[in-house]
Amino acid sequence: MVKPVLTIQDERLYKVSAPVTKFDRELRDLVRDMFDSMAEEGGVGLAAVQIGVLKRVLVIDLVEKGFIKGAFINPRLIEASEEMQDGEEGCLSVPGLSAELKRPRWVKIGYQDMSGNEKVVEGEMLLARAFLHEMDHLDGKVFVDQLEPKLHKQLAGDIDRIKSGLPVEHAIEPKYRNRKKAS
Ligand SMILES: [Zn+2]
Repeated sequence: MVKPVLTIQDERLYKVSAPVTKFDRELRDLVRDMFDSMAEEGGVGLAAVQIGVLKRVLVIDLVEKGFIKGAFINPRLIEASEEMQDGEEGCLSVPGLSAELKRPRWVKIGYQDMSGNEKVVEGEMLLARAFLHEMDHLDGKVFVDQLEPKLHKQLAGDIDRIKSGLPVEHAIEPKYRNRKKAS
């Protein structure tokens, strides 16, 4: 079921999500709602907190960009490359704003699947960025608060508008966004 995506005016986005301990029907329903809500918004990644559920669950759909689609439970960073990538980042919780943010080029992530089995996944470029961005959400961090100070200053007006529930003046959505589902 499509759920509303919280924006950065909602204080839940600044809270730390709790580990998943039960791999049950409720988790499957949550993951399905997350995929539905992400697709509705044309997103490529979503953390459970973005639909108001403070659990360490994230979903990614980068199939259109040649990567993977999946649900990752209790993800943790095992390793990240020293080499960094430049790139544009956006967030469904920060509508209308995207910005450059340096991230490691490659990551190795440990996680549990929907049955609780331990797994490992590696990703680079946009996939690495998506994992790191969504894992930050699980720790109550939003990308606009991690921008380089100079850039953050430039965008402060727009960020404040979104935090007040107002649209940004010159909305730019990230290029990598998935096509919205026809509805
Ligand atoms: Zn986000």
